[in-house]
Amino acid sequence: MRLQGRTAIVTGAASGIGRRIAERFASEGAKVAIADLNRDAAEAAAVAIRKSGATARAVAMDVADEAAVQAGVNVVLADWGRIDVLVSNAGIQIVHPVEEFSFAEWRRVVGIHLDGAFLLTRACLPSMYANGYGRIIYMGSVHSKTASVLKAPYVAAKHGLMGLARVVAKEGAKKGVTANVVCPGFVLTPLVEKQIPEQAKELHLSEDQVVKTIMLKDTVDGEFTTVDDIAEVALFFAGYPNAALTGQSLIASHGWHME
Ligand code: NAD
Repeated sequence: MRLQGRTAIVTGAASGIGRRIAERFASEGAKVAIADLNRDAAEAAAVAIRKSGATARAVAMDVADEAAVQAGVNVVLADWGRIDVLVSNAGIQIVHPVEEFSFAEWRRVVGIHLDGAFLLTRACLPSMYANGYGRIIYMGSVHSKTASVLKAPYVAAKHGLMGLARVVAKEGAKKGVTANVVCPGFVLTPLVEKQIPEQAKELHLSEDQVVKTIMLKDTVDGEFTTVDDIAEVALFFAGYPNAALTGQSLIASHGWHME
């Protein structure tokens, strides 16, 4: 059990990648808090994990709301006394060409991905510093490394997470806290399923063309990355015993982006 005795908060864990990370962490012995905007789905995810015999609880939270983040983290601290692992994963996607983005849409995307990551980090660090131990994992993207059309705020925010992780890696070093970024290629989750028809409309392509000629075009095998692939990478960082890898990112994208 690689996370035995650890406590973890995973944001956006009511669905997709976050949910599988929460399940995987629980299967390795962690107590897991499912923090999500969608209270019912978060509760359902927590119930499913508890049925497997592990410990999980739902925490309703808008990660872009300063007070809600602090309140949610306080609930977990009151229950479990410490936070060892944070996975800042909650996210959305909105696609438009830059000139068509409203400022409100820009702020919403950046607010959830980047402000949310900052707010969760700030709320969890005091507990991690007090215990001399913490693992912070940001859900980046291949879009932390490269760009695609129509995704200006998403790409900007995902690049920003790299900077945040590096600062946290440096500041946290003396107190046992590491920071890493996981960078998935396309994973078939509700976030991506929603984009396929939207991009088809914007780019005047069929949905099949969006998948084959945009999303998976540069992979080595034409395959989507899976939630299991990403959960495994998150577990690798969460369970890593020392600071050898701190500040690093890892791309899991079937060869779409290599560096
Ligand atoms: P998803 O839509 O399946 O899940 C996202 C979850 O985040 C949902 O449960 C949603 O309720 C929650 N959420 C949204 N806004 C929130 C908010 N303000 N506060 C709290 N929770 C909120 O999406 P996913 O594909 O699993 O995405 C998870 C993360 O992975 C995102 O950060 C996304 O950018 C990243 N990512 C996804 C892909 C992909 O191809 N699916 C690729 C690279 C990176």
